[in-house]
Amino acid sequence: MEEAPVSLQEMLRRALTGQVELGMGEMIVKSEGERSWNGHSQERIQMVRKSSETVDLFGADEKVIHTPQFDSLKAHYDTICTCQLCPLGQTRTKFVYGVGSTEADLIFIGEAPGRDEDLQGEPFVGRAGQLLDRVLAAMGLLREEVYIGNILKCRPPNNRDPLSEEAEKCLPHLLEQITLIRPKLICALGRIAGQILLKTTAPLGKLRGQWYEFEGVPLMVTYHPAALLRSPGYKKDLWADMQVLKKRLDELRMGQKT
Ligand code: URA
Repeated sequence: MEEAPVSLQEMLRRALTGQVELGMGEMIVKSEGERSWNGHSQERIQMVRKSSETVDLFGADEKVIHTPQFDSLKAHYDTICTCQLCPLGQTRTKFVYGVGSTEADLIFIGEAPGRDEDLQGEPFVGRAGQLLDRVLAAMGLLREEVYIGNILKCRPPNNRDPLSEEAEKCLPHLLEQITLIRPKLICALGRIAGQILLKTTAPLGKLRGQWYEFEGVPLMVTYHPAALLRSPGYKKDLWADMQVLKKRLDELRMGQKT
């Protein structure tokens, strides 16, 4: 069913509601003078492509850019939606491929489907997803204009962390999606998505506050919305990250070099 277009007034209402919920009483627009993100100076916010802790997932020393094997997300989905590459194929209710615009400039990547997502076949539809929607609204973005996916396409039993064998089998699916969409930016939601995409064991506190690169696409790591449900105190930091993300997105959309 086609959704009714959202009016400007409604978008503004959602943005303000989201910002208030994130603890911001007003629209925050940082001036040129305020340059901090995560408490670090702008100089520290750099593209980190190689360091002892961060490496490209599929690359060795060379940057390997994957060539899509399919013509469209639909063709890809039709081929992989019955995937049995790992045992989660046997326990899932629904395969959770991803949702959003096929031409999204921004992709959010979570960990794995939870109970609601497993039942509905769509990522981030439970409580964490509803919070993500409010964060998007606060950024002035619609869920339909970004793309949302997960490291794993199938729910791990009892929402346990993804196993490395599962991630290894499932990541090529995500890689194909990313290269078909060709986003301008990627945002990894939570420690696990960040660690798996960047092949690192660094804690979230270290992963936040820097730009990385995944398959040639700038990537940032921030809190998982579920963490905010458990610890609302993280909202302020998440909102700071989202402002950095939105600023870079706006710049890239305007064709500016950052
Ligand atoms: N948590 C995730 O990481 N992904 C979802 O789709 C839902 C909750």
